Amino acid sequence: MAKVGFIGLGNMGGPMAINLVKAGHDVSVFDLSSDAMNSVVQHGATSTASANEAATDKDFVVTMLPAGKHVKMVYLGESGLLSVVNKDTLLIDSSTIDADSAKTVAAQAAQQGIAFMDAPVSGGVAGAAAGTLSFICGGSQQHFERAKTVLDNMGKNIFLAGEVGAGQIAKICNNMLLSVLMAGTSEALKMGMDNGLDPSVLSDIMLKSSGRNWCLELYNPVPGVMESTPASNDYQGGFMVDLMLKDLGLAAQAAQMSKSSTPLGAMAQSLYSMHSNGGNGTKDFSSIIEMFATKK
Ligand code: NAD
Repeated sequence: MAKVGFIGLGNMGGPMAINLVKAGHDVSVFDLSSDAMNSVVQHGATSTASANEAATDKDFVVTMLPAGKHVKMVYLGESGLLSVVNKDTLLIDSSTIDADSAKTVAAQAAQQGIAFMDAPVSGGVAGAAAGTLSFICGGSQQHFERAKTVLDNMGKNIFLAGEVGAGQIAKICNNMLLSVLMAGTSEALKMGMDNGLDPSVLSDIMLKSSGRNWCLELYNPVPGVMESTPASNDYQGGFMVDLMLKDLGLAAQAAQMSKSSTPLGAMAQSLYSMHSNGGNGTKDFSSIIEMFATKK
């Protein structure tokens, strides 16, 4: 079993670290919040006084932090992680951040002969707790194979998208597409309902026709059409509007850097901004259907 340092024990990192403990790894943890740290220590992890202490003398370090600035702060600078980790430690950042920040950290790590991978996840809080996350990695094949020692205990599907940074790009491509699919599915369902159709019947028809997509299959945005979706639970749980908005911001940034044309992604970003500003930031992202007015 491996010695693992885990930094960032929030909604995602907490359950991910617990799964590493359950798999038998020797896990040292750190978070700025002592409550977050205690909830993982209760399951058998060792608490530490700093990110650097958690990362010292480890086979793997996993970070699960809010954004690029937190990742750079934890890894870089005179007192960052890179100043204390062993040369044979594999650094894995699973936060969703901009690809440039991932590449900056990887380049500085490489200068010291230390390996770094980006490995953002898909699957949400439920996937983190169940150990069924998808990891979308960027790094070398060799580091990818090694990372599976720990990623296999937290996820089900482990992908290598390409070199460092590629994991972040693949993740935001997926989430940009998902936002467009959810908005498109919502507008089609609302138009059908406005014209007298039963949303369950319409969903069934589109599911077996050429409009079929993941939202219709597993995540219908109309309350009551599917029993266990966030839509049928007042849009609670699931994937928050504000997290989708964060990913759409990262997608817009990436598109600008590569001069890619993403008109539908830009439209979805605008829709989700309006929805969030309407007080819906903490609802599940399928609540975007509320942006499409129903005929009174
Ligand atoms: P969160 O805000 O619940 O947790 C982040 C944790 O990082 C907090 O506990 C915070 O105290 C800690 N932290 C911040 N700065 C720190 C520092 N310098 N040192 C130590 N700890 C620090 O966020 P989350 O929902 O767990 O998301 C984490 C990452 O995963 C984000 O990048 C997010 O976009 C991504 N993500 C989230 C979901 C989701 O459904 N929540 C799904 C996929 C990906």
